[in-house]
Amino acid sequence: MNPSPAASLVDRFGRRINYVRFSVTDRCDFRCVYCMSERMSFLPRARVLTLEELAALGRAFVALGVRKIRLTGGEPLVRQNVLWLCRELGQLRENGLTELVITTNGSQLERLAGDLHAAGVARINISLDSLQPDRFRRLTRTGELEQVLRGIRAAQAAGFQRIKLNAVILKGRNHDEVVDLARFAIKNGLDLSYIEEMPLGVISDHDRAEAYYSSEAIRTDLARVFTLTPSTETTGGPSRYYRIPGTDSRIGFIAPHSHNFCGDCNRVRVSAEGRLLLCLGQEHSVDLRRVLRAHPGDRDRLQQAIIAAMHLKPHGHEFQLGGQPIILRHMNHTGG
Ligand code: SAM
Ligand code: SF4
Repeated sequence: MNPSPAASLVDRFGRRINYVRFSVTDRCDFRCVYCMSERMSFLPRARVLTLEELAALGRAFVALGVRKIRLTGGEPLVRQNVLWLCRELGQLRENGLTELVITTNGSQLERLAGDLHAAGVARINISLDSLQPDRFRRLTRTGELEQVLRGIRAAQAAGFQRIKLNAVILKGRNHDEVVDLARFAIKNGLDLSYIEEMPLGVISDHDRAEAYYSSEAIRTDLARVFTLTPSTETTGGPSRYYRIPGTDSRIGFIAPHSHNFCGDCNRVRVSAEGRLLLCLGQEHSVDLRRVLRAHPGDRDRLQQAIIAAMHLKPHGHEFQLGGQPIILRHMNHTGG
């Protein structure tokens, strides 16, 4: 029996879950200082979900009423044959999926943007923390700014609309680029979200409390140059949006510290290993890989496991800036 989608994914607090993020790999060609430690060990291949398993998960979630799937990672576009997965998931639009979207560091877009668009990917978020090549390299440890800028242009040329930049702002590292990043977004017709760093995984690069730069501080910086008008627009995520009159860009703020967004949470995540994570900032999880591998092809059992997991979804995160992070997994495992 197929569970009825209408009432399926609702948690104990009455929140309807209609958005899922898949971390399709924990690997990445960058080593951003807030996301990874300099020396990372990655998962052995057998522990990572196969593309077929990810496609089966996509089908199960959409049958349960999920309307938006985001592919992330690690860097989703370094996963071999990721286009196959995009095509498989893209077909779920016939079953009720309204949006297949990707978050990427942009390094592979020059090569892949056209095929991603053709595969049914609706929108792309591209991470960009600095417009200064040296600084970009320091923040990503291995990244090349010009390659990402070419990727952005390729995504625009491929026909992607409402491309959004994501910028993690760290005090003393790139907080003086808040206005430059906004000018860049406006000039190129892009949206932009500023993100407060979250304490996920132990990192050695900087002290997170010292590097904290609040959304409020960013808004103050912007207000010196632009008029910011609050907007009720939403993209189904935790960003709070503003408009700058006379421009087409939306300016968003993702502020887990200064604005807790848990009350409206509509999403869950699947880690690269197939752990269904009920909250970015808590450890509550269910091992869906075990279900997939113990009962291949059994969609009902998979759906029942997902439905049962909703009871574990906690009310919210408990991020703290001081001391050791309470969440030891790095963002690349979780899928940001
Ligand atoms: N590799 C892709 C990228 O960088 O866009 C997708 C995965 S990355 C983990 C997704 C997003 O999470 C990026 O925008 C990145 O800047 C953000 N991120 C990573 N670690 C973070 C942290 N500790 N706090 C806040 N955002 C973080
Ligand atoms: Fe890679 Fe994205 Fe993490 Fe940077 S933020 S190291 S690009 S996964």
